[in-house]
Amino acid sequence: MNSSYHRRVPLRGELGDSTSSQLSISASPSILIPLGATEQHGPHLPLDTDTRIATAVARGVGERLGWLVAPAIAYGASGEHQSFDGTISIGTDALTTLLVEYGRSAGCWAQRLVFVNGHGGNVSALNTAIGRLRAEGRDAGWCPCFSAGGDAHAGHTETSVLLHISPGAVRTDQMLAGNAAPLRELLPSMQRGGVAAVSRTGVLGDPTTATAAEGGRILREMVDDCARRIERWIPGADGMLT
Ligand SMILES: [Zn+2]
Repeated sequence: MNSSYHRRVPLRGELGDSTSSQLSISASPSILIPLGATEQHGPHLPLDTDTRIATAVARGVGERLGWLVAPAIAYGASGEHQSFDGTISIGTDALTTLLVEYGRSAGCWAQRLVFVNGHGGNVSALNTAIGRLRAEGRDAGWCPCFSAGGDAHAGHTETSVLLHISPGAVRTDQMLAGNAAPLRELLPSMQRGGVAAVSRTGVLGDPTTATAAEGGRILREMVDDCARRIERWIPGADGMLT
């Protein structure tokens, strides 16, 4: 049947489960793209922690707003974790190019694009790439996985969220408190010697206080925050939704 016979319906759910013809007959969909990393997360959390969190946030937002969720981008700029085995970083330049080309391609059929970022090291690439896409006239933006008072890396915040969304992936017998100093104090040493210079285990924060219930609360806060930014739709020049 010719597509013009179909009602133009909004699509939701997973982009990867959809077909091209569903997309071509739907009202121009908007998509959320989880952006994570593959990097050390201490002795107790999996390497894809940031990707799992970004995906969970994107799914929560997608359900609420009726947006499609694209397959995650599971690699990012993780140079600060490179001295730990398992870390695979593509660096800021390659990630910037990836995001620009991704946006140009998806922008051919999607109405709006939002990258949901689970890893702080990706911010510089996001700012450059999404800023460029917006300057080219594409309606793109990005939002962080934000929770008030969250700790930096593989600590209370990320461990709690993983206990909620992926309990089987958390090695609870390996949880050890890491360096819990504020990130701004650690940054000068980290810029010289990476995370290893401030934490032997790679943990910044304290995972031993994490609980699944707390993870559920933090995830809801992240979803609420990201959905609110999207509904408001006030992207800065760097594409971050405010
Ligand atoms: Zn992380």
